Amino acid sequence: MVILGSTGSIGTNALKIAKDNDIKIEMLAAGSNVDLLNKQIKQFNPKIVALRDLSQKDKLAIDKNQKVYFGEDGILEAINETKSDIVINAIVGFSGLKPSLEVIKKDKILALANKESLVVGGEFIDTTNIIPLDSEHFALQELIKDKQNIKKMIITASGGALRDVDINTISTQTPQNALNHPNWNMGKKITIDSATMVNKLFEILEAKYLFHTDNIDALIERNSIIHALIQTNDNAIFAHLGYSDMKLPISYAMLGKRAKNIESIKEIDLSNFTFNLTKIDTNRYPLWNLKDTLLKNPKLGIILNAVNEILVYKFLANKIRFGDINTNIYKAIEKFEGQIKYIKNIEDVFYINKEVIDFYSFN
Ligand code: NDP
Ligand code: MG
Repeated sequence: MVILGSTGSIGTNALKIAKDNDIKIEMLAAGSNVDLLNKQIKQFNPKIVALRDLSQKDKLAIDKNQKVYFGEDGILEAINETKSDIVINAIVGFSGLKPSLEVIKKDKILALANKESLVVGGEFIDTTNIIPLDSEHFALQELIKDKQNIKKMIITASGGALRDVDINTISTQTPQNALNHPNWNMGKKITIDSATMVNKLFEILEAKYLFHTDNIDALIERNSIIHALIQTNDNAIFAHLGYSDMKLPISYAMLGKRAKNIESIKEIDLSNFTFNLTKIDTNRYPLWNLKDTLLKNPKLGIILNAVNEILVYKFLANKIRFGDINTNIYKAIEKFEGQIKYIKNIEDVFYINKEVIDFYSFN
């Protein structure tokens, strides 16, 4: 098993599953958190290690039997070196795309948390060997097994950290408030993406590419217990329920079957919950208005992802306000949408991504 992004929220959960199930780890890759990576190396003894951040090179504690690679290309070379059939890609952001492409090129199974890979590259990626780790898509995959005549797919959203704040104060909310997610404990970027609803836009595109459908919508389910629903042509509806714990989809991908027991996931007493599925309010989440446009013009996902990535980190660094994320995403789409017709292959994706990033890094 290979774990890319091993020091993150998904990565550390995957390593817990590996430990509990004696799964051998062949390779670990991380960005810059050398201290945690060193602990993981000691515990799991991988043959191959990759570290993105060259400035941390000297701190890496490996022994002479371990091969080590550095930098962006180093991670790709390291993937190439592995013999494992399954690679978990839990890198955050656009940086996950090249590793995803490398895994697919090597005919390995890609257990994909890095949804950004599909958001930007979905038009040019063969999804046959992808197992979704995103909870909603994992749920959809389970729901569609053995079903025919599927009319519609629905994924759920929690509403994010700002779902209950006074709507007039949203645009000036602090990073601290926007990171305070009610149901999930995740990395910072996806937590902000949840608060803006960008995460759900990403997931709509992710579902489109994984399940080859445009009949996909999202509703708010505040408990994050119902993860997805499907409606069949006879108007029956099937739902997938489970606690908000990523070890459920991760363990399924890693074990290739349902786990006998996942320690942190307890039995759900349904009588403790009230289930209510509501429409996503576009006054509170103005970006949700982009959903149909994105389904019609999915390559706009490249622009959305690029500008969003810049804006989220600027917001986290207190350089812009929360509300600026919304307004600047709309501006970026308006500015760059004319260019998407020139995107004909995956190389063009890298080109446009860089154009958007260069523009917004200086503006
Ligand atoms: P985190 O921020 O917690 O972790 C990101 C990981 O990626 C870290 O290990 C980080 O390393 C590593 N990383 C970042 N940049 C690079 C790079 N350029 N090269 C190599 N490694 C890099 O994020 P999450 O675990 O929350 O999310 C990971 C992905 O999974 C995202 O795409 C997210 O949308 C998706 N996802 C997450 C869910 C969750 O519950 N967390 C749920 C569904 C999807 P380091 O810390 O060492 O710098
Ligand atoms: Mg999700």
